[in-house]
Amino acid sequence: MSIDFERELNPAQREAALHMGGPVLVIAGAGSGKTRTIVYRLAHLVETHVSPENILLLTFTRRAAQEMLLRAGHVLGRPLTGASGGTFHSFAYSVLRRNAFDAGYEQGLTLMDRSDSEDLLGELKAHLDLGKGDRSYPKRATLADIITKSRNKELSIGGILDREAYHLLPYQPDIERLAEEYARAKRAQGLMDYDDLLFELERLLVERPEIRDGLRRRYPFVMVDEYQDTNLVQARLVRLLTGEAGNVMAVGDDAQSIYAFRGAVVANILDFPQHFQNARVIRLEQNYRSTQPILDLTNVILAGAQQKFDKQLFTEREGGARPRILQTLSDQSQATQVVGLIVDMASRHPLHEIAVLFRAGYQSYPLEVALTRAGLPYRKYGGVRFNEAAHVKDLLAYLRLAANPADLLAWQRVLGFLKGVGVKTASKIAQAILGGDAKGLDKHVKRFPDLPPLLAELDALRKLAHAPAAALDRAMSFYAPSLSTLYPDDYPKRQAGLEQLAQIVVNYASIEDFLADLCLDGAKEEEERAENAVVLSTVHSAKGLEWRGVIIIDLVEDRFPSKKALQRQEDMEEERRLMYVACTRAKDELALIVPGSVFNRFNNCREPAVVSPFVAELPDAVAERFVETYTGGLRRKDEQVRPGAMTRDDGYLPPVVCPEPPRKPDYEPGARPVSAAAAPRAQHAAAPPPKSSMDAAQSKF
Ligand code: ATP
Ligand code: MG
Repeated sequence: MSIDFERELNPAQREAALHMGGPVLVIAGAGSGKTRTIVYRLAHLVETHVSPENILLLTFTRRAAQEMLLRAGHVLGRPLTGASGGTFHSFAYSVLRRNAFDAGYEQGLTLMDRSDSEDLLGELKAHLDLGKGDRSYPKRATLADIITKSRNKELSIGGILDREAYHLLPYQPDIERLAEEYARAKRAQGLMDYDDLLFELERLLVERPEIRDGLRRRYPFVMVDEYQDTNLVQARLVRLLTGEAGNVMAVGDDAQSIYAFRGAVVANILDFPQHFQNARVIRLEQNYRSTQPILDLTNVILAGAQQKFDKQLFTEREGGARPRILQTLSDQSQATQVVGLIVDMASRHPLHEIAVLFRAGYQSYPLEVALTRAGLPYRKYGGVRFNEAAHVKDLLAYLRLAANPADLLAWQRVLGFLKGVGVKTASKIAQAILGGDAKGLDKHVKRFPDLPPLLAELDALRKLAHAPAAALDRAMSFYAPSLSTLYPDDYPKRQAGLEQLAQIVVNYASIEDFLADLCLDGAKEEEERAENAVVLSTVHSAKGLEWRGVIIIDLVEDRFPSKKALQRQEDMEEERRLMYVACTRAKDELALIVPGSVFNRFNNCREPAVVSPFVAELPDAVAERFVETYTGGLRRKDEQVRPGAMTRDDGYLPPVVCPEPPRKPDYEPGARPVSAAAAPRAQHAAAPPPKSSMDAAQSKF
């Protein structure tokens, strides 16, 4: 069967797909068929008798690479096996492992994950006697962040501190020393972290030209998707693997560059013609994904960028509904409204063709509960599912004990948080409590001074069985201080996630009902079995994907754009590109949700939210606007009243008056548990970036 390229691809796509030799760059907007072009090129190469073994496909996630090879197999009419496809990291790992001896890892090499890196840094810090008694000394997670940023961005430690964490500048000499010791310890022990994979591969290819040439012979065809998100060393690796006149096809979109925070440099794609002699540059201008009304909106978002993008996309999908902008009363009612929207969209599309996108993984928690209540299955990409998140389970364990004092698992969990109590001891204490063994319990009480406050707390919680909101608030105040000890890596995010629970709980009359609805253990299997499930995804994890209906939530300042980005122009630009990525995932329908107010747990007060600038700037013509009424219905917003932007002062909420000045939170993230109140308070560490998605570093190639 031969492939009908005439029918399947437009002329520009065809030119790229049928290109056989020499460097080629496909630079084009979202949905213009860049990935499809690679898929057809893969199929074409194999059809013209290029051995799949000679093809190397590098993408951002292993899942994406597998999907592309699978689709190429469909085009070809037979499975495409034998090609190498994966991430830069997984490719580097496989080459280094095969050449461990030549790379200087005679004893073999062991890959470290992020927590291994933090552990090693922690050990070195203790060994070098750094930070003793200094409460504001950077934590291990912060140290690991700075070191990885400095490597990925190829800037000195001082350069990173200067730009991103100047409050840590006094620690610069210490951090530099730690970074050196860290590198030395890794080398001595044959360990590699994710960053080393790329740099060590580069070193190997530079120092051993015969290995480099062997790879060039092995992979005469190299393709890279999402090239705009490569970092400096990745671009150098592509050059080493293919040579300057190399046979490489890179595709990407500068307007979708969303990983600068991790060292991606958009110059890689823009300077491709300078890096490769006689590079052919192909632009694609037709968008096949979205309808014209959706493109009209995404064009406005792009036009608002400081950097001017040269994108003139058109589509033949003229018809279709205008995107909807929905202002809900609050972030609490947002979840209910989104479920309503999903049900509405589901009358036109299967559930798996509907996605809800958000800036940070925890933002979907209230929605996850609402979906579970409504019996709608969902899948989550990027970020942990609400009902699997360890910190959520931790907090709920207190409530479970308030509802049912005989819950052994919950006892073991909360006892395990006490200082000095391990799994075995927790089990013993739980048995003493449940078995009514007063003497045994007394022994434990004497040994663990933190035990009586815990028991008193649980007693208090039990009295609140029918006041779930108060119980949650109490449990939260008790538990939250230990977050930074339990999860030093990313506690600020977890804390923000737990705060979402406060919105959920207000719908319940008793702790029991609340817990029952969260269905902590039952829901998961059922949903995993469900093929046809709504997709919940962070925007970063939605890169390259598409759905018939897309809903973007939490479009208010501090959430999308994120709080951190508000301070710097270049970060705001990246948030804008992120918004562009989010909106361009939609094929037929797009809905943007703006909660009119958000709950602030610290002063127990609902506050008006400031609409995201990316929504505020949209002219009326590109979207239909709805507002939620007090009765939970929707009404169309009169477009004539306020032409132009929607701002916070056209809110439909009565002004919010806080009853008293905000009370100081009774805990601080980063502080020690209440029961260890005498212990020094730890410092607020900067929120670490999301864990890298270098998921495939250990994959088999
Ligand atoms: P992104 O920048 O979001 O990664 P992309 O440029 O890689 O987008 P694709 O995902 O390859 O775009 O294509 C978008 C959609 O348009 C897909 O559903 C694809 O199958 C379809 N498409 C692309 N080109 C054509 C074409 N010539 N004929 C029909 N459908 C096409
Ligand atoms: Mg793509």
